[in-house]
Amino acid sequence: MKKIVASNFKATHTRKSTKEFVEDVDSYLKEKEITNDVFIFPASTALDTFKLQENLTIGAQNGYPVKSGSFTGEIGTLHLDEFEINTILIGHSERRHILGESQKDIVIKYNYFKAMGYRIIYCFGEPLEVKNCGITETLGYILEQFDGIDLSYDNLILAYEPVWAIGTGKSATTEDIALIHKKIKKKVNKPLLYGGSVKVCTLQDILEVPNVDGVLVGTASWEVEDFKKMIYIASKMDKDSKKLICSMEG
Ligand code: PEP
Repeated sequence: MKKIVASNFKATHTRKSTKEFVEDVDSYLKEKEITNDVFIFPASTALDTFKLQENLTIGAQNGYPVKSGSFTGEIGTLHLDEFEINTILIGHSERRHILGESQKDIVIKYNYFKAMGYRIIYCFGEPLEVKNCGITETLGYILEQFDGIDLSYDNLILAYEPVWAIGTGKSATTEDIALIHKKIKKKVNKPLLYGGSVKVCTLQDILEVPNVDGVLVGTASWEVEDFKKMIYIASKMDKDSKKLICSMEG
């Protein structure tokens, strides 16, 4: 399977800079004939209808589980449909831990977007205090994040994103990733991404870990040249696993 590369813009990039970024990535995929699946999740104000390569998808970082209605500050599928968006991130740690989404809220959202046929990238991961308790506690915590989630859903991609690694600059080690991914893959046979402070220089080592089908990247993907380097590295992994130098011109 070709490695997947996804960029989460979080609350960065304007409508204008998103358009430039998306168009740049699209031309790059075309020029290099790269066919790996690439996702970009812009801020909701920057969503738009883009004419893109088949393997480049624009997704929503969030959505409220309704078509439309009296839900101030939210967007529903009416708004996503306008731009033909049918991919969404659900369960991201920043929504769980900063915005206060409970597992119950997440299940409602998951079921709604599943019923609408969306491709769902479902994120899960443990906070540092849980990791420090050991692997049994970590797995127990992760399994609770699968409560109520239909893991047999066809259009599902999973993303293991340890909370302590997100936006901190401190990625999980390849040993940590290998262990968790092996356990999760045994339970759920779905594409499984790793996310948490992935950088251009650490990408190849992470993609070489067994059971890592791709990456979900925040901070280090926001410069388009870096994101293109990541896409290039991922595209080469399928063909040639020799070390690619970090400073390579992709
Ligand atoms: C994320 O937002 O999913 C993420 C992994 O962020 P970062 O790469 O900044 O840790």
